[in-house]
Amino acid sequence: MALVLRRIERSVRAQPPGVGKKKQSTKLPQYNTKTPPCTDACPSAEDIRGYLTLIAQADEYGRSPEMAIKMAFEALTDKNPLPATMGRICPHPCESACNRSQKDKAVSINKVEMAIGDFAIEQKLSLVKLAQAPTGKKVVVVGAGPAGLSAAYQMARRGHEVTLLDERAEPGGMLRWGIPAYRLPREVLAAEIQRIFALGVKFSPNTKVGRDVSLKDLKAKYDAVYLAIGAQTGRKLPLPGMDGSNVMTGVDFLLAQNLGQQPAMPAQVLVIGGGDVAYDVARTAVRLGAKKVVMVCRETRETMPATEEEIHEGTEEGIELHPGFTPKKVTAAGGKVSAVEFLKVELGEKDENGWPKVSEVPGTEFEVKAELVITAISQAPDYSGLEELKQDNGWTTNRGPAGRLNPEDKLWVGGDIVRRLGLVTQAFGDGRIAAEEMDAVLAGKAYKPAPKANVVSYKTMKLGFYKEAPRNEVTVLKPEERTKNFNGYVLGFDKNALLFEASRCMSCGSCFDCDTCWSYCGDGAVKKMPKGQHYNFILDKCIGCSKCADECPCSMIDMV
Ligand SMILES: Cc1cc2nc3c(=O)[nH]c(=O)nc-3n(C[C@H](O)[C@H](O)[C@H](O)COP(=O)(O)OP(=O)(O)OC[C@H]3O[C@@H](n4cnc5c(N)ncnc54)[C@H](O)[C@@H]3O)c2cc1C
Ligand code: SF4
Ligand code: SF4
Ligand code: SF4
Repeated sequence: MALVLRRIERSVRAQPPGVGKKKQSTKLPQYNTKTPPCTDACPSAEDIRGYLTLIAQADEYGRSPEMAIKMAFEALTDKNPLPATMGRICPHPCESACNRSQKDKAVSINKVEMAIGDFAIEQKLSLVKLAQAPTGKKVVVVGAGPAGLSAAYQMARRGHEVTLLDERAEPGGMLRWGIPAYRLPREVLAAEIQRIFALGVKFSPNTKVGRDVSLKDLKAKYDAVYLAIGAQTGRKLPLPGMDGSNVMTGVDFLLAQNLGQQPAMPAQVLVIGGGDVAYDVARTAVRLGAKKVVMVCRETRETMPATEEEIHEGTEEGIELHPGFTPKKVTAAGGKVSAVEFLKVELGEKDENGWPKVSEVPGTEFEVKAELVITAISQAPDYSGLEELKQDNGWTTNRGPAGRLNPEDKLWVGGDIVRRLGLVTQAFGDGRIAAEEMDAVLAGKAYKPAPKANVVSYKTMKLGFYKEAPRNEVTVLKPEERTKNFNGYVLGFDKNALLFEASRCMSCGSCFDCDTCWSYCGDGAVKKMPKGQHYNFILDKCIGCSKCADECPCSMIDMV
């Protein structure tokens, strides 16, 4: 399949070899593998091109599709240990950066990730260890959310003894206790976390650091400590009357639902907020049986932080959205809020904290009646018992590039507490980078991050080389079906769609054996190497004409 999309067949060279022609330039060609923009945009730094190519070139390298997907899983999980999870919940900045979008549409990287992850669960594939022998070093990870899971995984596969502590009964952090099950089925999450535990990570549930054990004791007992406690506290709306017994924060509501302790769902629910958490709340309320769910947020429809998918699917599920309004007045009786009045706002320039200047538009008041009010406006970390980590800005943002709190300390931090909220893929990246530094420090070595090659732009590629190939889109259940329960509603790719989508990747910045340089060089200066080693230049035959570099579709050749 890869050949169909990637290669224009050329069985003979464009010109005969002609050794001894006059030199045209002092510059000579060089093969330089570059960073593809998808990987550059993925905060986990997944080798997306690498695993897509393993699948796309399966035929050429004599691999069965199953073998190719297994190899892709191993390449993918080098950076992201939960592909079936990420394939469902990552907002995929990789796809926004994909060069293929300049040709037709971006490669559906996220849903390929989901398909590889689902295949791995079905086939019970294991994660790959990097060291077989134990190092004898003990590491403790505080917080079993994405950042902690990533750090635990990366340290365990490097041979360290890892203990993972969490204040909750099960691991996963916001993946388990925030994101609703209809977006991330719990059996998928559990199967992927189990694979990390199979590497020998010991999980200690119901252990709150700062209450059940002190950070000081952990530092005394372990060789390194990684701490990623996230932001568990929902921010309340500072408005008089907003303290009624029927007012909750979004994270408290979702936590209650995930614990099976959700409040009885009244007919009318008001959700204040315009991000993904607000949509998780509103769509959960719909599934719990609320008759009417109204969402109001300050941002305009265009600047709302929720993804287009969430807004579209939420609207399909009947959520009534009012963007561009701020809450002004609360009507309460008997300790309960009965209505909230809103006023239209216009948002101006942002201040140094990222908050926009707000100007209200008089005469635009409207009231929303509600029996339950849920505010999903932001979150903050809970530093109780860990006050020394709370920095002036209320987070733990001052740390070294790999998350080490200071060069003398054996404490590393990451995830939402250092990012002032973020994405799961960022938390994975934080956990891995910290693990790389911890591993180096425990081995008594200096930590050197791998150097990053230049990012390849579509502008230097030959997009005309690649055939048009329409992107596979996933299907989702109809709103009336999916709102009946909390089952997953996104139907992933089957094997054929996975193979086809992988073959849409243009292998930006990396040779994929297309023969273009070899066939364009009329001077015999490009030598085909044995399979897997691509080509070499025979520079004393090269006249520096630059044809190979000009025609290389993936822009791997530089004239230097
Ligand atoms: C409702 C919701 C939906 C989201 N949806 C998405 C999405 O679709 N895609 C996306 O990329 N991101 C999403 N996010 C953001 C994402 O979940 C976070 O960025 C990510 O979980 C941060 O990972 P973390 O490991 O830093 O923290 P967390 O996931 O919060 O994990 C921290 C862990 O530490 C534990 N803990 C806290 N304090 C202690 C302590 N003192 N001792 C021991 N354990 C402790 C907690 O129990 C928790 O398990 C969402 C967030 C929320 C709230
Ligand atoms: S983790 Fe997110 S950004 Fe990275 S490859 Fe997967 S979908 Fe793309
Ligand atoms: S075409 Fe492939 S290598 Fe290029 S940016 Fe897209 S996914 Fe990455
Ligand atoms: S096409 Fe051949 S001669 Fe021209 S620069 Fe490339 S290797 Fe050299």
